[in-house]
Parts: sequence; structure tokens; C-alpha cells
Amino acid sequence: MKKHNFSAGPSILPRSVIEQASNGILNINNSNLSLLEISHRSKDFVEIMDRATTLALDLLNLNNKGYKAIFLQGGASMQFLMTAYNLLENKAGYINTGAWSTKALKEAKNFGNAVEVATSKDANFNYIPKNYSLDSDLDYLHITTNNTIFGTQFHDIPKTNTNLICDMSSDIFSRNIDFSKFSLIYAGAQKNMGPAGTTLVIVKEEILGKVSRTIPSMLDYKVHIDKESMFNTPPVFAVYTSMLTLEWLTKIGGIKSIEEKNIEKANLLYNAIDSNDLFNGFAKKEDRSLMNVTFNLNDQNHKEHFDRLCLEANISGVNGHRSVGGYRASIYNALDISSVKVLIEAMNQLNKLV
Ligand SMILES: *Cc1c(COP(=O)(O)O)cnc(C)c1O
Repeated sequence: MKKHNFSAGPSILPRSVIEQASNGILNINNSNLSLLEISHRSKDFVEIMDRATTLALDLLNLNNKGYKAIFLQGGASMQFLMTAYNLLENKAGYINTGAWSTKALKEAKNFGNAVEVATSKDANFNYIPKNYSLDSDLDYLHITTNNTIFGTQFHDIPKTNTNLICDMSSDIFSRNIDFSKFSLIYAGAQKNMGPAGTTLVIVKEEILGKVSRTIPSMLDYKVHIDKESMFNTPPVFAVYTSMLTLEWLTKIGGIKSIEEKNIEKANLLYNAIDSNDLFNGFAKKEDRSLMNVTFNLNDQNHKEHFDRLCLEANISGVNGHRSVGGYRASIYNALDISSVKVLIEAMNQLNKLV
């Protein structure tokens, strides 16, 4: 029975990608060897890595603009410290919009003066701060474009004269923005690109090599760029599967085309929440995420009932994060609109029954 998978992460991938990835585990490129048992320096894998990085830059329209794409390990969480390690000399600014940016800020403080420029903590991160002033002497400004847990998203990218650094883990490749506004973008694969185990980092080369501290090789972006993500053994399966997803996205028309679908899905679901008097949305309307839709029941007595309706409809992964409660429907690129309609039908059924 088909499941409607709204998991926040690791999360849904295109079925065709899962099948291709399975085939690659059994027999990669008709070699009668598994992807998992060949050298990462073999022609087969070097081509996979090349293709994955090229597709990533192409999709973001960042080819030939001074950017490099690398696949690293340690998750987005490792980037919380790597960004500061490589880029923080005097002072860095952080816009704190949730649990992940709180962690990023905490790690940066290990390396120097990292300041919270603005925060929405006063309202449990249900909005994106808008009015703040930026010091002119920042090495960089760090933002989290999409707040996976709280369901908020930057719809306007902050204007700044300094390097803009971004955790884009849960909305990379989902909407069409001018990615050249960013000096560095990082994203854990497991939200919108592939399985857990690799993190895509897109970095403008000219910003590197400016800090005075010594950076250990494994944490130095330059080392990974020079070695084309092969300084040590890369996570071959995660990179391969990510490449397959990027191929899938390219084939279906790239970011512009997926953005239309994502907007349609999100509008449908938010409208259903707003028009159903049993539910309320968590995030402030103007800051609502196109990827993670957070909502709650007005009356918790209906919880058991709604949970049962979801179960019967084969809906999976809609429980909210413990810091928000309620429900969270993650509607990433690979989720079809038909699954959104099934969730809306469950909400409407509750309405008929109570
Ligand atoms: C999931 C997530 C992270 C954490 O990613 P890991 O790969 O588990 O370290 C960081 N930032 C955002 C926005 C996320 O959604």
C-alpha cells in the first residue's frame, strides 16, 4: 500500500531514484560490481562525483561564476563549525530563526565574536525577523533560509554588503532565487536531495584563505576543493543517490518547474488549514515555509481521532517536532500533490465527524 510520506528528514525521495540507487548497489554501470565495493578513485565513481557537482552548480545557475561544489561528511551540523573555522576573523552576524541557527551561532562562538543580529525566539520562532541593523564590519552574515522545525522561511533574502552564508538544508533546489547572492551555501542531503551521510557545500572560492588561524586539513574547504571532494573516501552511496536526484530534477525541468509545483502544494495545504475551523497554522502567514507546514488542532481532544484518520489514509511522518507540538507536513520536492490531497481529505473528514 502506498504511503504518503511527510517525514521531515530523512525524507521522501523520488521512487525512481530509490529504484536506480538500488540497482547501483547491485550492479553499477553493468560492471557486475556493486557501487559499494568499487574504489572511489575508479572511473565509474569519479564520473559520479563530477556529475553530481556539475548538476548541483547547473541547477543553481552558478556555473562559471567562481563557485565550487563539494560533498562533505559530518552533516549540516559540521558546517556550523566549518563555516566559522574558515571564515570568522573579527566578527560574524547570525540571524537566529530557530533550533538550527541557534546551534550554528553556538559553534561559531568557539572561533571568535559571533553576534546574534536578530532573533524570533520571543515567539517560539514562528516568524522571520525583519527590522534589524547590521554592523558594517562583519566577516559574514549567517542565515537559515528554511526553518525545518518551525515551518518558517525567508521569502526575501537579506541585503548585505558582507558575505552571506546560508544553511539551506531543507529548501535547497526547491525554489528559484538568485543563488549568486550567497557566498557559501550548505545543505545536509537528507531533506531535499538524497540520503543522510553527505552535505553539499557551494562556496565562492575568493572568500577562502582570509583567516589567520591554521585550519586542520579535514576542516579546510580549500583542501576539499583542491582534492575534488576526494581528500578522503567520500560517502559513495550518498553522493550517488544525490546525483540521481539532481538528474531527476534536471529532467523534470529544474528549479523553476519544481518551484511551481511546490507553491501549488503549499497553497493547497495552507488554504485547507485556514479554511478548516478545527485547525490553526503555527507560522506567521507572511513567513510560511513552502517545505514544512506546521499546524495544530484547536482542540486537543480531537487528536486521537485525527491521528487515526491519518493512519487509515496511510499518512506517515506528520507529527510535529517536540518544540512546537501539533503537526508538521513536510512537502519536499519529491512529494506528489496527490499526497497533499490525501492529507487534506483526512482533515476534512475530521470536520465531518466532530
Ligand atoms: C536537518 C537540519 C540540520 C541538521 O542536519 P544534520 O545533517 O543532521 O547535521 C541543520 N539545519 C537545517 C536547516 C536542517 O533542516
